Amino acid sequence: MRASLRLAPTAMLFAVSLLSFTGASMAASRETRIPDAALKAASELRERALASDLGFRITESLTTEVGPRLAGSEADARAVQWAEAKFRELGFDKVWKEPVTFPKWERRSEHGEVLGTARQSLALTALGGSPGGTAEGEIVRFADLAALEAAPAGSLAGKIAFVDFRMPRAKDGAGYGPGGGIRSRGPSAAIRAGAIGYLMRSAGTDSHRSPHTGITRFDDGLTPVPSAALAAPDADQLARLLERGSVRVRFALDCGWDGQATSYNVIGEMRGTSKPDEVVLIGGHLDSWDLGTGAIDDGAGVGLTMAAAKLIGDSKQRPARTIRVVAFANEEQGLYGGKAYAQEHAKDVKKHQLAAESDFGAGRIYAYSSSAPAYAQAADQQIAEALAPLGIAHTPGKGGPGPDISPFAAQGLAWARLAQDGTDYFDYHHTPDDTLDKIDPKALAQNVAAYAVFAYLAASADGDFGSEAKKVTPPEE
Ligand SMILES: [Zn+2]
Repeated sequence: MRASLRLAPTAMLFAVSLLSFTGASMAASRETRIPDAALKAASELRERALASDLGFRITESLTTEVGPRLAGSEADARAVQWAEAKFRELGFDKVWKEPVTFPKWERRSEHGEVLGTARQSLALTALGGSPGGTAEGEIVRFADLAALEAAPAGSLAGKIAFVDFRMPRAKDGAGYGPGGGIRSRGPSAAIRAGAIGYLMRSAGTDSHRSPHTGITRFDDGLTPVPSAALAAPDADQLARLLERGSVRVRFALDCGWDGQATSYNVIGEMRGTSKPDEVVLIGGHLDSWDLGTGAIDDGAGVGLTMAAAKLIGDSKQRPARTIRVVAFANEEQGLYGGKAYAQEHAKDVKKHQLAAESDFGAGRIYAYSSSAPAYAQAADQQIAEALAPLGIAHTPGKGGPGPDISPFAAQGLAWARLAQDGTDYFDYHHTPDDTLDKIDPKALAQNVAAYAVFAYLAASADGDFGSEAKKVTPPEE
C-alpha cells in the first residue's frame, strides 16, 4: 500500500493546491454573510422603529400597571401575567413561561437615626439579603473596601462599620465595579472585624436623598448583621459629624428571607420563515427592586426588546430565523432567570444564533460588539454598518454578554453587546427615583431601532456566529 502512494511531483503539486483550494473555499463557503435583501429591509425597519413610540408605551404599561416588582412578591406574579398578556396583545406567534425558583427576600420597614446631641434621622435602605434587626453603636468610617478588609479581627466589636466610597460617574458604568463590590463583600468584611451592623454610602453617582438598595451576600460561616445603604447626602452628614467627634447611630430593619418563591421567565416568539427552529434571543429582566417602579432597571429593557421583535414581526419580509424575546425572572438577586434559561436550553446552544440583553437603562446606544469568530466577522461588520446611521460605533472585542445571558454564554452561546450611555444611570439605579420620567422616549426609540436592526440581520444571515456547546468544567470541589 505504502509504495504505490509515492506520487509524481506534478501530481503532488496538484493534490496540495487542490487541498488548499478546498480548505480556502470551505473557509470562504463557511464565511457568514448577510444577504443584500436583508440589509435593505433592515434600513427600512430602522426608520420605522425610530418613528415608533412602541417601546416607550410598553415600558409605560409595565411601570404604571404593575410598578415595583420585587422577585417573588405578589407584584412579581402580576408582572408575569402582564408579560404573557402583552406578548399576546402584540401578536407574538408563540408565548410561554418557564418556572424559576429562588429564595424569597422581603422588605417591610426600615428606619435610621443619629443619636446624641446631633440627633437626626437618616435616609437609608436595607440591602437585599440583609437580615432584620436593630444595630445601635458607634460608627467607624472607612474610605473603601480595602480599608475595611484591613481592619483587625475584633477591632469593630460592638460598633457599626461605615464605608464611605464615592462611586465615579462613567458612560460605560465602570464605577459600578468597586461600588457593587462594597455592597456585596462589605458586610462580610465588617463581620470579620466584629461589627454589629454595616452601613455604606449608596453605590450611586447622585446627590439626592434617595438611598440605593441592591443585593448583598454573607460568606458561609458568618452570622449576618443588619446591612443598609445611606443616601449620599446622609453619608456626607455622618462624615462631617465624625470630624467633630465620635458618632452613635441606631438603625432598625424589618426584612429578611422567607422560604422559596417561584416566578417565571416569560418568552415570546416571532417565528422565522425558512429556519424557524433557530433563534436570535433578545431580552431584559422582568423583576425590579421595590423602591421605584423599575423603569430604567429594567422596564426599558423589556419594553424595547418586545417592541423591536414586534416591529420585525410586522415586516413585509420576516427573517429566516425566529426572534425570541425573554423577560428574565429575578436578575437582581442572582441571575436566577438567566441560570434557569441556560439550564433549560443547554442542549439548544447551537440553535441560538446570537443573543443580546438590554439591562443598563434607556440611554442611547453608542457602541456595538460581539463574540463573532473570524468567519463571522464580515457579517458582524455588516451589522455594524447598518447600525452606524444610529450613531453607533463598531468596537470589536470590547465588552461582554449581558447579565442574564452570561450563564448561557459560558456554555457556548454567541453574544452581542449594544452598549448604552449610562452616564446618569447610577443617579437613579435601585432607588425610589427609578421612575418613567427618567426615560427619554427618543433615546428609547433609538434603542428599539438598534435592537430591531441587529436582531433582523443576525436572523437573516447565511451562516452562524459561533454558538457551540462548550464543555463547562464543573468547579473544583
Ligand atoms: Zn437590572
